[in-house]
Amino acid sequence: MIDHLLTPGEREHHGRMLKLVRDRWEDSAHTWEGGGMLPEEVVRWCGEQGLLGAALPAATGGGGWNAIEAGLMYEALGRTGATLPSLVNVHGMMAQTLAKWGTAWHREHVLPALGAGTRVGAICMTEPHAGSDLSAITTSLTEKDGRLVLDGTKVYITFGRRADDFLVFVQRDGKHEACLVRRDNPGVIIEPMGDVLGLRAAGLARITFSGCEIAPEAVVGKPDFALTVLIPTALHHGRHAVAWMALGMLEACFAECAPFLRTREAFGRPLIEHGQVQTMVTRMGADLEAARHLCVSAARAMEANDPAATERILLAKYFVCRAAQEHSASAVQLLGSSGVSERSVTARAYRDSKVLTIIEGTEQIIERALAPALVNAVGRAS
Ligand SMILES: Cc1cc2nc3c(=O)[nH]c(=O)nc-3n(C[C@H](O)[C@H](O)[C@H](O)COP(=O)(O)OP(=O)(O)OC[C@H]3O[C@@H](n4cnc5c(N)ncnc54)[C@H](O)[C@@H]3O)c2cc1C
Repeated sequence: MIDHLLTPGEREHHGRMLKLVRDRWEDSAHTWEGGGMLPEEVVRWCGEQGLLGAALPAATGGGGWNAIEAGLMYEALGRTGATLPSLVNVHGMMAQTLAKWGTAWHREHVLPALGAGTRVGAICMTEPHAGSDLSAITTSLTEKDGRLVLDGTKVYITFGRRADDFLVFVQRDGKHEACLVRRDNPGVIIEPMGDVLGLRAAGLARITFSGCEIAPEAVVGKPDFALTVLIPTALHHGRHAVAWMALGMLEACFAECAPFLRTREAFGRPLIEHGQVQTMVTRMGADLEAARHLCVSAARAMEANDPAATERILLAKYFVCRAAQEHSASAVQLLGSSGVSERSVTARAYRDSKVLTIIEGTEQIIERALAPALVNAVGRAS
């Protein structure tokens, strides 16, 4: 457990989050994946429990939770797999960006419903030919007869099938911007995307904007603000959340394995007494402890507005997602045939953790940012 890194108040908060998720969803998370979309009662529950708006500033209608409280929420949600925390995360990425860079109009007309969780947000960056390199996006905002018109296609939009409001990244006259679009805006076409390896109930969508007219006040931020300010803001929150949900998945794998290793016998001894099993378990346990420290360190830096926060968040996202990927595979191995059951949280973590190494910046993209920063930090210190 992570308790030794938390204050008494944080421990209590974490206990509440774990209980909330366990009591409601422990026995049913495995049923979510069939339809490719979380059941509506789960989405509603997140809103009713205040989870969707939890980390938004109280002044904008949110819960005002600090980074560690939000992280512990993602960790608890991550025990079910990555789908449920991803709902809260994409909503949060969208709403946090708006809370920081939106106008008074956005604060008055859009944020209260996002903070209250009565409307769900999603974030539309990726296009068929632009993923890691978002400077290549071609979705365009153009002025025609005094009207603003949006055209283009976004893909792999998490909860695109369900969200009410989209933050869409575009270019206008070669400059990158963002704008808000409601799902019921004429010209918005939402199509489910096919079966995926992980995040199977995340309602992925391809969204086409075809001659979609938007109001001038729907534009977010200044011209050319998107690549340097808006997207980094969204990813700052998204990567922090992903690190913590990966930690929850890893904790869940360990928790599923431990009793099995104590009680399952092979060749006359419990599995935990076999040397090769001990190697896998020790590696998993050591990385799990390192992952807890990195997540807490990232959250504390984020909360303190520490200039090192971006780097700490990148390190946490990078390490914990890789650890979740490696050790969920070990956990499936250790559980043997019971590890491949659809009911097993470990099997779900095995599929979902691979996806976490791709979203919010692939491993390679994070390495491009981290490696020079790590080397330069040594130069500065010596
Ligand atoms: C389940 C799921 C949910 C998603 N949800 C959302 C969402 O809600 N909103 C959204 O906008 N997008 C979403 N995405 C898209 C996701 O953000 C992109 O898939 C991701 O950014 C990678 O982009 P890409 O798939 O186009 O890969 P590419 O950018 O084409 O990269 C392909 C490979 O090349 C590597 N690569 C690229 N450039 C370099 C380089 N310079 N050096 C070394 N290697 C490089 C990458 O690391 C990767 O391994 C989602 C994706 C998935 C799978």
